[in-house]
Amino acid sequence: MIQPVAIIGAGPFGLSTAAHLRARGIPVRVFGEPMVSWRDHMPAKMLLKSTPVASSLDAPQQGHTLADYCDAAGIKRLVTDEDIIPVETFIAYGEWFQQKLVPELEQVRVVSVDRRSGGGFELKLDSGELFTARAVVVATGLHGLAHLPAELNAVPDGPAPTGPVSHSSQHHDLTRYAGKDLIVVGAGQSALETAVLAAEAGAQVRVVSRGRGKVAFGAPPWDQPRLRPESPFGRAWSLWALSYYPHSYRRLPAGARHYLVRRVLGPLGAWWLRDRFEGKVQVIEVDRIVGTDADGGSPTLRVRTFGGQTEKLAADHVIAATGYRVDIAAMDFLGPELRTRVAVSRGTPRLGAGYVSSVPGLYFTGLPAAASYGPVMRFVCGTEFASPRLARHLAAAHG
Ligand SMILES: Cc1cc2nc3c(=O)[nH]c(=O)nc-3n(C[C@H](O)[C@H](O)[C@H](O)COP(=O)(O)OP(=O)(O)OC[C@H]3O[C@@H](n4cnc5c(N)ncnc54)[C@H](O)[C@@H]3O)c2cc1C
Repeated sequence: MIQPVAIIGAGPFGLSTAAHLRARGIPVRVFGEPMVSWRDHMPAKMLLKSTPVASSLDAPQQGHTLADYCDAAGIKRLVTDEDIIPVETFIAYGEWFQQKLVPELEQVRVVSVDRRSGGGFELKLDSGELFTARAVVVATGLHGLAHLPAELNAVPDGPAPTGPVSHSSQHHDLTRYAGKDLIVVGAGQSALETAVLAAEAGAQVRVVSRGRGKVAFGAPPWDQPRLRPESPFGRAWSLWALSYYPHSYRRLPAGARHYLVRRVLGPLGAWWLRDRFEGKVQVIEVDRIVGTDADGGSPTLRVRTFGGQTEKLAADHVIAATGYRVDIAAMDFLGPELRTRVAVSRGTPRLGAGYVSSVPGLYFTGLPAAASYGPVMRFVCGTEFASPRLARHLAAAHG
């Protein structure tokens, strides 16, 4: 029997990769909950920061873009940079894509992946099934990679929406904080949008931002500079190069690659969020956060001011919108032997052409590929570059 390729993940990257491999006639088994990061780990009523042109899952056949979904669903076509995508519409689009192009998706968790001595990989599913795959594509996205800095780790049990501190990925329903005094730490879109949605749900919200002038909003489409090339992220030469030439990214020195992944397309609120934010959410700028106390259940942040004093900020709850860090050590479904065999750079897998890791047959796409292929891999539009190339490489090596 021909061994299938296993794709772990049913978010935008897993689904898009599966569609490309299926179109090449390669047998695949695809695992995961469709669009779960968007459904359970982002706030309800969130609006996407990416524009419609940058929010389609890449497919080998025509007819599967976000605009095609809008037509099929009989809703307003989302196409221009001024059309803003509600997260609920994007989830429905991802599920429609899955039903059309990856109908055999198995909604089970992969518990472990180990190399087999005779070649290929052995996978164990949480149904108890064991099977052999000729290649494995890791498309697990944000799962397990939420980053909570040590100074915000207030209790030994870790972050939780019902405890003193949580991570932004633990929230879907922010109405639980109506009438409460909430601090959101961070200055990126996730922090600012979480703050706005909580304020609109009736919370009193302060954003605590580390550094001066970090809370800022992008320019609306009609104010984008005209003489620079267009990219899915706005008009700029750097964004254009990173969006359309990610293959050159791998050749940059490691320090530059890691720096750019963090900095390019870094913290900046969407243009349409400004009016909902200003005057409704207070911003407190601090030099740094020193620590968090949670005596009696409510958190108090100890912060260092720019004048060098330590001040205390008390609240009913703190949400850390402090992002995600790729670390192969946190991907505990990969067996220990496999994890030590994968060559890494600062915890992220070092990928070659076609998204293959140093272990033949083991591929990574989406966020874990960003340190090799650049910041575009953190966004849905990265599927356009990644999925056909990964599928081509895999078909040539294991087809
Ligand atoms: C608040 C927020 C807002 C964002 N807004 C945008 C935006 O506007 N535009 C944009 O382009 N990007 C946005 N992003 C980034 C976006 O999350 C990623 O682009 C996208 O989700 C990555 O897709 P993915 O397929 O790699 O992973 P995910 O969407 O995270 O999917 C992971 C999949 O892996 C599965 N999985 C994990 N572990 C296992 C396992 N052991 N076994 C089986 N399955 C497993 C899960 O079930 C899931 O199906 C945003 C991110 C956040 C946090």
